[in-house]
Amino acid sequence: MEYLKVVEAYQKIQATTKRLAITETLVNLLKETPPRIIDKTVYLTQGKLHPDYEGIELGMAEKLVIRSIAAALMIEPAKIEVGYKKEGDLGTAALQLFQSQKIAKLSSGKLTIERVYDELDRIARVSGKGSVDSKIKGLTEILSQASPEEAMYITRMAMGRLRLGVADMTILDALAIALGGGKNNRPLLERAYNLCSDLGYVARVLAERGLDALKEFQVTVGRPIRPMLAERLNDPQEILDKMGGEAAAEYKYDGLRMQCHSSIGSVKLFSRRLEDITSQFPDIQGLVRDGGRAKEFIVEGEAVPVNLETGELLPFQLISQRRGRKYELDRMIEEIPISFFAFDVLYVDGVDYTQRPYPERRDKLESLIKIQGERLTLAHQVIAKSAEKMEDFMEHAIEDGCEGIVAKSIKPDSVYKAGARGWTWIKYKREYKSEMQDTVDLTVVGAFAGRGRRGGKYGALLMAAYDKKVDVFRTVTKLGSGFKDEDLEKLQKLLEPYKIPHKHARVDSKLVPDVWFVPAVVLEVAGSEITLSPIHTAAWDKVRKDAGLAIRFPRFTGKYRDDKEPEQSTTIEEILEMYHKQLKKVKEQSSTA
Ligand code: ATP
Repeated sequence: MEYLKVVEAYQKIQATTKRLAITETLVNLLKETPPRIIDKTVYLTQGKLHPDYEGIELGMAEKLVIRSIAAALMIEPAKIEVGYKKEGDLGTAALQLFQSQKIAKLSSGKLTIERVYDELDRIARVSGKGSVDSKIKGLTEILSQASPEEAMYITRMAMGRLRLGVADMTILDALAIALGGGKNNRPLLERAYNLCSDLGYVARVLAERGLDALKEFQVTVGRPIRPMLAERLNDPQEILDKMGGEAAAEYKYDGLRMQCHSSIGSVKLFSRRLEDITSQFPDIQGLVRDGGRAKEFIVEGEAVPVNLETGELLPFQLISQRRGRKYELDRMIEEIPISFFAFDVLYVDGVDYTQRPYPERRDKLESLIKIQGERLTLAHQVIAKSAEKMEDFMEHAIEDGCEGIVAKSIKPDSVYKAGARGWTWIKYKREYKSEMQDTVDLTVVGAFAGRGRRGGKYGALLMAAYDKKVDVFRTVTKLGSGFKDEDLEKLQKLLEPYKIPHKHARVDSKLVPDVWFVPAVVLEVAGSEITLSPIHTAAWDKVRKDAGLAIRFPRFTGKYRDDKEPEQSTTIEEILEMYHKQLKKVKEQSSTA
């Protein structure tokens, strides 16, 4: 089929201000297109060559495109640059230059959709030595056969700037009308699209095998599924009411969502936006490859930076440093280790689990995943039937370094709704957050044994603030970060004389560390915020009943406050004051990461 047909459709789309007219133009184009090239036609209309997740993008440099136009018209590149400067768009400049060449008219209609698509695809893929010349030569060849209008759109495509502004949903409408028996069948097409994230593929299946094939459409390993998203509420009772009185409450880990596709030892990872991020996370790839009891499966989860020596979750920002890395990956993997918390399963060995209720998916996930300590595990979950239980779970989640919780419906209709934001998943994040702007000086009252590289040393210290009124040290955080190797050595020695076999009488703690100390050593600690805590005893019952205050993401600043007595540590009153002073409403954040 002639490429000109596509170009005529582009022109109509650009000329209209009505959405319906766009759909109609697309309907006519799709009806005319032979099934075997319908996928290519769909991609071209989207201004791409493949679904986004394949990562094959056009985007030839301006200079190269200018050289190709010059070669096709046999004129000086400088002449094109003048036109480009005047128009601000190389496509329009090409149109005018081609129009001014009398020969151009004769070429019209020679190019086919396949020829243009295949050449652009070759240009997008070619790399390495000689690739610049090869790209210029290929583009010159198709431009030489193009009409002025074709040249305009080929130029824009080659630069990756077609920008017709046709939404995926409009293409789905047009496909349903042209080939799917009418617009009322659109949900079927949309479902297929949500399960494979590839409009060209959906079009091809529909055109070649009909609507019934789309009805049977299943998830496929290797094609990312558009992610299910959560609604948001800030009241646990309201959440429970929405879910029929009970729900699975899960930690909402603050990391990077990943959809992992594993097929006989080969694993692909997709981001929330369905980019293929496999090469950036070989560690997660390995964990997933060895971590499933099945030949083929698709699981979803959150990848979170973690301190392997203490098991603590670390702030999300750290994982950003791992994104987009090509060099020094090995070093980054060691410096910023990541754990994977699986929270859903969508496919296992021929069975599409997206249509199964959530409890069944969770059971399957439990039998599928071979837990590997904290490196590969399942999202922490409880079944909550009361608002109190949910609230309590929320506080534990925050305490453990999470953003809040995600409540999930466990009713029979709790299927995985690909590509949809719905009330079967409700996120509950804190409304208020108390940022810590100052450091505090805290007293060491206990220690937890280290693991991994910290084996034989202390992994984390139990730190307390001072309650002046009653002369008691109340715990406020577990400190495991910010220590250099020499600090670990030094602390071991420094704390040795204060070791005791039981909790000191002046210490108030719900946590039981491996070693207790007499309150004596004071360290300076920085943190990200002060939060309510079900575990730490500082300011117990002061802000909320059955909750204390804790410092989140604590870090040793490197300062030993040997100039301070433990009684000169930061007091409970000061912590309370900091909490109230810095309390801020958490901004609504709609991250698209
Ligand atoms: P947010 O900015 O709140 O993360 P979002 O728009 O990225 O929002 P939402 O659907 O609103 O995404 O919130 C769900 C997100 O929470 C998921 O995309 C996922 O990355 C993350 N998450 C963390 N833990 C879980 C879990 N146990 N179950 C589901 N999602 C989880």
